Amino acid sequence: MADGRLTILYRGPLASCNYGCEYCPFAKRRETDAERAEDEAALTRFVGWCLAAARPLRVFFTPWGEALTQRRYQRALAALSKAEHVEKVAVQTNLSASLDWVGEARASRLGVWATYHPGWTSLDRFVAQCERLLGWGVSFSVGVVGLLEHKAALEALRARLPPSVYVWVNAARQDSAQYTHDDVRFFESVDPLFRWNLTPHPSRGLACRAGEDVVSVDGDGTVRRCHFIPTVLGNLYTAEFEQVLRPRACTNESCRCHIGYVHLEHLELRRVFGSGLLERVPESGSQPPART
Ligand code: SF4
Ligand code: SF4
Repeated sequence: MADGRLTILYRGPLASCNYGCEYCPFAKRRETDAERAEDEAALTRFVGWCLAAARPLRVFFTPWGEALTQRRYQRALAALSKAEHVEKVAVQTNLSASLDWVGEARASRLGVWATYHPGWTSLDRFVAQCERLLGWGVSFSVGVVGLLEHKAALEALRARLPPSVYVWVNAARQDSAQYTHDDVRFFESVDPLFRWNLTPHPSRGLACRAGEDVVSVDGDGTVRRCHFIPTVLGNLYTAEFEQVLRPRACTNESCRCHIGYVHLEHLELRRVFGSGLLERVPESGSQPPART
C-alpha cells in the first residue's frame, strides 16, 4: 500500500431484496427480525471500525441482496461519506429506494453502482432516480445484465440519460455463449468497455492488488483477498490484520467480475476508472486498452 489507502468491499449477512429477478437467489426474500438484528449489529461494528480507522479508506458495499431499502444502510453511507479519511463510499443497488438520505450525506464522496432491472421498475422511475443523483452531483454508473431480451430496454435507457452517464453491460452468463457478432457490437455500442466483461480474464499466477490494498470483509470481520477466493487472510477486528496485506498472485484460473478483475495489474483498468473505480465510472477522457 504505497499510499496507505485501503479499499474494503463489505458484504454482510443481508440477503434480502424487494425485486424478484428470476435468476437471483435473493429475489423477493424478506429478512426475519433475527436476520435484521444480526445484519445491523455487523454493520454497526464495521462502520464504527471504518470511522475510527487511521488511514485513508474507500468503502464499497456489495451486498448479496438490496441494502439501500434499509434505513440502516442509508445511515451508514451518510455517516461514512462525512468522515474526512473516507475518500469514497460506494454501493451496488437496484436504485429502487427513496434517495432522500443523500441529503444527509456528503454527495461528493458517494458512489452508486445502479443496476436497471426492466420488469421490476419502469424506465421513468429509474431515470427519475438517476436525475436525482445527477442533481446532487453523485458519481454513479448504471447498467443492465446483457440478456438478449434486455436489448430494447437498454437502448431506451441509454437514450434517456445524458452522454456523461456511463452505461455498462454485464455479459449474461446464460446468454453470452450465444451472443452473435451483432449482439456483441450492439452491447459495445452502448458500453465501450463491454468486451472487458464478455469473457473471463485468465488470472492464475498473475499479480492482483486484491489482498494488498483492497480486501473483502464479511459481517464477522473475516478478511479475504476478494469475494472469489475463500481463503481467509485474517480478521479486520484484530490488531494483526494489517500484517496480512501484501502483494500476491491470483490463485484462481480466471476472474470474470468487474469488482475483481479491475485489480489485476496487467489489465491497467485502475487507470481507466481512476477515482470512479468502485462505482464503475471511467475517468472522462481515459482511453481503455484494446481488447478483442
Ligand atoms: S435486484 Fe439484484 S439482489 Fe434483487 S433480485 Fe434482482 S439481482 Fe437479486
Ligand atoms: S484476479 Fe480476481 S479472483 Fe484473482 S485475486 Fe484478483 S479479484 Fe480475486
